Amino acid sequence: MKTIFAASVPGRTACRVASDAPGAAAMLPAGLLRRTPPRLPECSELDVVRHFTRLSQMNYSVDANFYPLGSCTMKYNPKFTEYVAALPGFIRLHPLVAQLEGGTDVTQGALHCLYETEQLLCELTGMRAFTFQPMAGANGEFTGVSLIAAYHRAKGRQRQIMLIPDAAHGTNPASASLAGFTVCNLESRDGMVDPDAVANALQQHGDNVAGLMMTCPNTLGLMETHLPRIVEALHAVDALLYYDGANMNAIMGKLRVGDAGFDVVHLNVHKTFGTPHGGGGPGAGPVGVSERLLPFLPAPRVVRRQDGSFALNYDLPQSVGHIGPFYGSFGVVIKALAYMLRLGGDGLARASEYAVLNANYLKKRLEDVLEIPFRQRHCAHEFVASAPEGLRALDIAKALLERGIHAPTIYFPLIVHECLMPEPTETESKETLDAFVDAVRDIVLSGRAEPEKLHEEPRHLPVRRLDETAAARHMVLTEDMA
Ligand SMILES: *Cc1c(COP(=O)(O)O)cnc(C)c1O
Repeated sequence: MKTIFAASVPGRTACRVASDAPGAAAMLPAGLLRRTPPRLPECSELDVVRHFTRLSQMNYSVDANFYPLGSCTMKYNPKFTEYVAALPGFIRLHPLVAQLEGGTDVTQGALHCLYETEQLLCELTGMRAFTFQPMAGANGEFTGVSLIAAYHRAKGRQRQIMLIPDAAHGTNPASASLAGFTVCNLESRDGMVDPDAVANALQQHGDNVAGLMMTCPNTLGLMETHLPRIVEALHAVDALLYYDGANMNAIMGKLRVGDAGFDVVHLNVHKTFGTPHGGGGPGAGPVGVSERLLPFLPAPRVVRRQDGSFALNYDLPQSVGHIGPFYGSFGVVIKALAYMLRLGGDGLARASEYAVLNANYLKKRLEDVLEIPFRQRHCAHEFVASAPEGLRALDIAKALLERGIHAPTIYFPLIVHECLMPEPTETESKETLDAFVDAVRDIVLSGRAEPEKLHEEPRHLPVRRLDETAAARHMVLTEDMA
């Protein structure tokens, strides 16, 4: 597929400017005018439409097919959230308006929406307050661990260690070290955080432990069963608990992490609350805190005055400062609000129930095809499996692509051998799940019969197997347009 530049023909245009329209020269100061025309593609409207339509068809999306990419929650996002976020009152509002003299008079509706979304997330998670500034989950992690650092600093102490389980998403240790912490790895037992390992780490590092980052259900798709002991052990030494909320889709309306004792949580609204995920964003990673972290949140905060109107509060002397511009990904927050209001508390709980039911159905049906660690336990909204003896997870994934199905996440978490991690989400039907099972079964059976054939997949996609190292080392980012 060629780039749009390759379709360029000198002199061809998509629209004609009226001959009596004032030219750019009349509107701009002479010193700002460019001397050479910009090197833009010259195409007709139809060329442009065909080019981008073809590109979109080469892409893979939830709108076209099943997308069981574990840990990423690639569920179908109903289109009404797009409609709500695109209302003119929202998209025509410049973020600087609220900072002008009298600006909050004309932004009351937007501030009300931010305030309302915060209230709903607090209700759902049991946290005290949320900031919307972080732009994604990983950015929320960095914010959250920075809040933990600020908490200890305010108490006049420097704590160096962040405890992180070995099943954690790679962004956890990355965010902790970016915030200046030294990561201490906790080995899991039976697929869960081991309270004895926590006790040992606390003993070894004494009061140098700042906190623990946990994901629950964890990245193996298992609910952590030792939470109360772990929370108690950390709070006993005034260390804080971070909740990685990427798996929130399993627990909405079921577990309030604030009630479970967590001090700070990020949510990936682009996974759980109505924003499509993938393609590079935008997303949002709101961070919720318990009472003790409240003073350190980024500024400004939306507050409700006595008379019911809304204002921005910048007077937060202990704040960690700005994490992102303005109020975060405003449109994404609006989609989350629309999604939560449409589903209601019951609907959100039901979404989690179906997500968990679908995952357990898939797990059960794949038990005789794949090797399933922890198969005796119910999984949450996703589960891990190993490619059967003699087959590779990569080959199964590539063969699924050939059949028009997106592959599950593979080789994550790192602690599972030849790992495949399907996450069906609540929005998929039984027919879709059955078709996936049939495809995996067929691939495994034919792979057993002729393993070398599996190495050849995919055969009919625009790209087959890439040399990923070479692709990263010798990137070709431009096209020869001579
Ligand atoms: C997706 C994910 C993250 C990172 O979130 P982004 O929004 O992609 O930055 C962190 N932890 C877990 C468990 C995840 O699945």
